[in-house]
Amino acid sequence: MKIEFHGAVRTVTGSQHLLIVNDYKILLDCGLFQGSRKESYARNQHLPYNAAEVDALVLSHAHIDHSGNIPNLVKSGFQGDIVCTYATRDLCALMLRDSAKIQQYDIEYLNRKRVRKGEPLLEPYYTMADAVESLKYFIGIGYERAYEVMPGVQVTFYDAGHILGSAIVVLDIEDRETKRDIRLVFSGDLGRPDRVILRDPTFIDEADVLLIESTYGNRQHEATEAAKDKLENIVNETYKRNGKVIVPAFAVGRTQELVYHLHQLVESGDISSKLPVYVDSPMAIDATGIYRLHPEAYDEEVFAFLDSNGSGDPFGFDMMRYTRSTAQSKELNFLREPAVIISASGMAEAGRILHHLKNNVEDPRNTVLIVGWQAPHTLGRRIVEKQSKVRIFGEEYMLRAQVATINGLSAHADRSELLEWAAHFKKRPQHTYIVHGEEDASHALADGLRNQGFKDVNVPQLGQGYIL
Ligand SMILES: [Zn+2]
Repeated sequence: MKIEFHGAVRTVTGSQHLLIVNDYKILLDCGLFQGSRKESYARNQHLPYNAAEVDALVLSHAHIDHSGNIPNLVKSGFQGDIVCTYATRDLCALMLRDSAKIQQYDIEYLNRKRVRKGEPLLEPYYTMADAVESLKYFIGIGYERAYEVMPGVQVTFYDAGHILGSAIVVLDIEDRETKRDIRLVFSGDLGRPDRVILRDPTFIDEADVLLIESTYGNRQHEATEAAKDKLENIVNETYKRNGKVIVPAFAVGRTQELVYHLHQLVESGDISSKLPVYVDSPMAIDATGIYRLHPEAYDEEVFAFLDSNGSGDPFGFDMMRYTRSTAQSKELNFLREPAVIISASGMAEAGRILHHLKNNVEDPRNTVLIVGWQAPHTLGRRIVEKQSKVRIFGEEYMLRAQVATINGLSAHADRSELLEWAAHFKKRPQHTYIVHGEEDASHALADGLRNQGFKDVNVPQLGQGYIL
């Protein structure tokens, strides 16, 4: 048996690991590499293996850095099954099409520059039609149901508590060459305990080979409970000032968590039931629809909450408004009374959030609430840094609104949560590979695992293969 690491090693994007066993090639994840436009294009366009020779793809979850190159895989000759949970399949139907749209935009940008330099034009690595075509290959499997991906290779998904449908992938393999039974566990992205909506990450008892993510292998988060209290305070203080809370948020995951938190706060009377909350993003509205379709992925707390208030919908309450059309969205520009407006994109780089920021950043009664990590050079980062002027649609605006940050909503386990999860293996894996983390984070987690008695802990290089 051999495993090759073709992405998300010593970095956090482009997850793809190729397993070669019993003459079958099984790909774990097929993510997009997300870096500068130029580097991303080079890395994503050419797959580092022959797609036609891959027999099956096992997908941990729908985030684009794990799923985003699937349309290119199919376009390049892949003919197998794409096996994932039901919710992951449904989220991919939304996210792969969105990814095709973003790419088209990026390619147009690159090509405008190339025209000026007289260079040949680039093709997108896949189109909207390719994204739709790839959906035919998906097979949904419920959590904790064993499924034979290839003869002698069974997959079982366990809840990873990261986003809706996210899974820890357990492969039980009969290796014919060495006549051994091997259990390979791929953590996918691991969530945190006690997050809203989702269950806690499942502890796995046994593994021979472990692939574990390390996004926060060297860092700790704020407690999740503190996040809800902070949200309550920010909303109430802004409401008292007669201001608006403007929240740039990722359409999938973060938006639904915020809505659910606000629903809880309204029900408990901790924020006013008269305060309107708007989700102004067609993508977030579609994603919320998918969250509603998958109660099998909710934790018990959601059902207890719904029982207690009889609302039947975690993502709906009296003053909750979803604005899909452009006309509805534009009406929000004329809103004079207090409100919470949640909109995409999460780093305020594109989308409707730009209109809300433009209209509201100069009023000191308002609050811009940042609920996720903001990459350098994004508008979101400039706001977190409280720069006095920000540029939106090419114009300068004074940043006079309050800026608040909630860090406790991370969808990734922190260092102690990763080590705690790994400590639950009753039998330590014989081989461990650290993936999905910046180099420092991966090495820090590797050291932590070695201290817990893990042997043969490796931080692979891009393209490196190991024979087991
Ligand atoms: Zn993820």
